[in-house]
Amino acid sequence: MAKDAKSLNGTRRIKADVVIVGAGAGGGAAAAELAQRGLSVVMLEEGHRYRPREFPASYGWAINHLYAERGTRIVEGESYYPLPGGRGVGGSTLINSAICYRAPDAILDAWADAGLEGLAPERLAPIYDLVEATIGVTEMHPLQARANNLFIKRGSDALGLGGGFVHRNAPGCVGCGICYLGCPSGGKGSVDRNFIPLAEEHGTEVCADCKVARILVRDGRAVGVEARVVDQETSEEVGRLTVDADAVVLAAGTVGTPMLLLEQGLANRSDQVGRNLAIHPAVGTYGMVDDAINSWDGVPQAYAIPLEKGVLLQTYNAPPEVFFTTQPWSGADGMRKMRMLKNIAMCGGLVSDGSNGRVQLGRHGKAKVTYALSTRDRHRLIRALRGIVRVLYAAGATEVYPGIGDGVDWAKTESDALAPLTPDVEEREMNVYASHPMGTCRMGVDAARSVVAPSGETHDVPGLWIADASLMPSSLGVNPQMTVMSMAIHVARNLAAA
Ligand SMILES: Cc1cc2nc3c(=O)[nH]c(=O)nc-3n(C[C@H](O)[C@H](O)[C@H](O)COP(=O)(O)OP(=O)(O)OC[C@H]3O[C@@H](n4cnc5c(N)ncnc54)[C@H](O)[C@@H]3O)c2cc1C
Ligand code: SF4
Repeated sequence: MAKDAKSLNGTRRIKADVVIVGAGAGGGAAAAELAQRGLSVVMLEEGHRYRPREFPASYGWAINHLYAERGTRIVEGESYYPLPGGRGVGGSTLINSAICYRAPDAILDAWADAGLEGLAPERLAPIYDLVEATIGVTEMHPLQARANNLFIKRGSDALGLGGGFVHRNAPGCVGCGICYLGCPSGGKGSVDRNFIPLAEEHGTEVCADCKVARILVRDGRAVGVEARVVDQETSEEVGRLTVDADAVVLAAGTVGTPMLLLEQGLANRSDQVGRNLAIHPAVGTYGMVDDAINSWDGVPQAYAIPLEKGVLLQTYNAPPEVFFTTQPWSGADGMRKMRMLKNIAMCGGLVSDGSNGRVQLGRHGKAKVTYALSTRDRHRLIRALRGIVRVLYAAGATEVYPGIGDGVDWAKTESDALAPLTPDVEEREMNVYASHPMGTCRMGVDAARSVVAPSGETHDVPGLWIADASLMPSSLGVNPQMTVMSMAIHVARNLAAA
């Protein structure tokens, strides 16, 4: 049964076995698992619930309705980077690119060696199988990928870099190219299309427009939550909802979950809440091509190139209104470039980073997210840009923007484009972007160095569990949604058995 601000006005109090805070990748997967094991579940989500046909394919609408903090969330490093996240039933899966990877065995082995045996590759493999079957993971077909992805493939093939089409959870994708704005065809397998309906079939009650403001604790044990019911169009509070529960599962994401704990000083005897943030810092750049690429047409991110250990190149696109607002072009040269958008090919690259960031309480109830890019990771970002430049030229680009500086001057030759990309390029010269925050309530054996026990229950507060990307003990190096879902299912099974 789905509820929202229209049906939840006034003051209400309900009871469940488990209340889940946040209806994203982790919350959705945990809800389905718990409900199928016979527990009564209520899931509260700050954002609204939309059906695919309600997505108007508009950047302005999406930012205001589907993005955390209306798209203004940033990371403070040496410069400021965007830190987008989803808001709504579906969480970040509503706006993600649907790329699906299992975590590399080396990462899971390292976690298992640190005492998290439940996350060892052979233990997680059947859970990944279940996740893939539920969200509809398939290998990309070149017909959906279209010209931008095929152009980057051509460059990768020419250089022998061993790239390949990615797997995606978009079984009904028509390649319309606007995954970041909400999938209007319903072809993407965001969790509002699979795990959450499955949870509802087994009795879960999903309450949208409900921002959890407080975790209720009695005699040291988590016993429920209080939420403000907010009309998303007017931002007015129209009600209050209290859920009494035997267990509370936080799945509000890598920023939202530590914020809830920090606001109340909960589960933080280790002083680790909010620390150990990894973000997969990413960069991207583009080049001019003689043929029409129409990069906005086709799947935004369909092709990947493992450039080196810790650096993964992936294609991307941006809707024209987004692309142009990020460019400093003007005058005759700017007009020329704008007219040539159809001839611009794009590629990005992400880096497997250290856990160098932190989420803290900021001003006006907002999170303050800080991050110190290490020299190793800065060098990896520079090598990612060098790799993209080489791929673009190998595919046939005629002019390439090296990805640093003001974006006005493009290089006419590969050597000119590579020349400025030296190891001393500074962080503030690159346009860093981060959409994979992980690790602010990390799982671990040692209660002095982690927030959550291997089961998923917090070390300090019985009855308080975590099932989202904040659990990650380290950066993954690949897109994280399937690992978030799998870890959430692992946690849900432990909770159901507790
Ligand atoms: C633009 C973008 C593209 C991405 N592309 C990919 C990709 O292609 N492949 C991939 O693997 N990963 C991708 N990711 C990352 C992936 O989507 C996330 O890692 C994953 O969704 C995180 O799951 P989560 O459960 O931790 O949080 P989320 O999915 O973000 O869900 C958290 C939910 O909690 C809600 N919430 C927060 N605070 C509260 C509160 N106080 N009360 C109630 N609700 C609250 C939020 O509104 C949100 O809906 C992308 C992310 C972004 C932003
Ligand atoms: S490209 Fe595919 S998954 Fe993305 S919005 Fe369009 S139809 Fe949906």
